[in-house]
Amino acid sequence: MTSSSRLSNEAFDHQHLWHPYTSMSHPLPSYEVSSAKGATITLKSGAQLIDGMSSWWAVIHGYRNPRLDKVAHQQIDTVSHVMFGGLTHEPAIKLGRQLVDMLPAPLEKVFIADSGSVSVEVAIKMALQYWLAQSRPEKSKLLTIKGGYHGDTFKAMSVCDPENGMHSFFNKAIATQIFADAPELTPDDEWDENSGQQLTLWFEQFHKELAAVILEPIVQGAGGMRFYHPNYLKLIRALCDKYEVLLIADEIATGFGRTGRLFACEHAEVTPDIICLGKALTGGYMTLAATVTTAKVAETIGQGPAGGALMHGPTFMGNPLACAVASESLAIISEGNWQQQVSTIEKHLKEKLLPLNELSSVREARVFGAIGVLEMEQTIDVAEAQRLFIKRGVWIRPFGRLLYIMPPYIISEQELSTLCSAMADYAKSV
Ligand SMILES: *Cc1c(COP(=O)(O)O)cnc(C)c1O
Repeated sequence: MTSSSRLSNEAFDHQHLWHPYTSMSHPLPSYEVSSAKGATITLKSGAQLIDGMSSWWAVIHGYRNPRLDKVAHQQIDTVSHVMFGGLTHEPAIKLGRQLVDMLPAPLEKVFIADSGSVSVEVAIKMALQYWLAQSRPEKSKLLTIKGGYHGDTFKAMSVCDPENGMHSFFNKAIATQIFADAPELTPDDEWDENSGQQLTLWFEQFHKELAAVILEPIVQGAGGMRFYHPNYLKLIRALCDKYEVLLIADEIATGFGRTGRLFACEHAEVTPDIICLGKALTGGYMTLAATVTTAKVAETIGQGPAGGALMHGPTFMGNPLACAVASESLAIISEGNWQQQVSTIEKHLKEKLLPLNELSSVREARVFGAIGVLEMEQTIDVAEAQRLFIKRGVWIRPFGRLLYIMPPYIISEQELSTLCSAMADYAKSV
């Protein structure tokens, strides 16, 4: 045992706790939170911060949402966890029903996983087992578009952007996949038939070894916060059908209204064969994800080896507490207020952020749904920017050249205005 007990919280955290994507020996600063409510995070120092991040796309209904709190308490008083092997329970069944109702047909076979990355692994396993069951083991590669992000586990990493992802660190351990160039046209651009050429070529060339295409529909999140034209997705769906390749839509960030549609695939009127959901699924209360596929995929896997079993089953699969909260979060979504909330946020972001395109420090300001991005010319000093933002009473966490927000849907216009002014002042100051 190291003599750590006498360290202050701040010193202990600094010396003993890993934080995401930062060094243990010289980490970026972390600020201790004492509580959070609505769209406000309160630090131990007493500082109150308006949340621009929704804790990474998750907390859409706000912190300490009374309905989610209530359901969580009730479920703790009933049962917090039981194994899902050989047992089942109302929270999982209810959540499953809601997902099947919400998702477009024919998506109806639900695997409840414990995190986004795991749901991506499960989706990939489904695709591989689908082809194995048809004695086509050569269909084992994935095609994706550059600029994507699908999680931190190894197979998920293999389809993250090959340059700004983690390929360079782990290159020998990462499976090689097939990458098409990142889409150039944005949703606002005029569609140009030529921009699908490479995709068509890649399908012609590689389809015999392709199990699936995996992509984030319309909005590429952690890989670069870029928005692309829905016709790419339409084209990919058509090519998947033509060349017998499954389509996996990773809607972990985009699902549940963030882009102005319930699911981002709707912008292209496309239905994937497999969809991954996570992040906002529990309203950001705890980790939970789902991989949902069609009867065709599920039944084909069912004809395959291992008695047709899908070879996955995490310890906390279908955790009742997380399912109960997710179920209430989906009930809130189903009531439909998110549509007005997201479109109000979008309008506000467009008004306040798009004019910043004029600034020489800003390469591009862009807005899609309840997502606002300032892509700067220079890499942002994260520690320095956060100090400034905290002084301004906002919580915004930039990465690389990207200063971006995707606030909780329940944020007020005034809070949103404070967030946007802080972004604008930062952009003017550099
Ligand atoms: C966050 C994210 C993941 C990974 O989810 P985790 O819960 O962090 O494992 C995968 N895909 C996309 C699109 C994401 O935004």
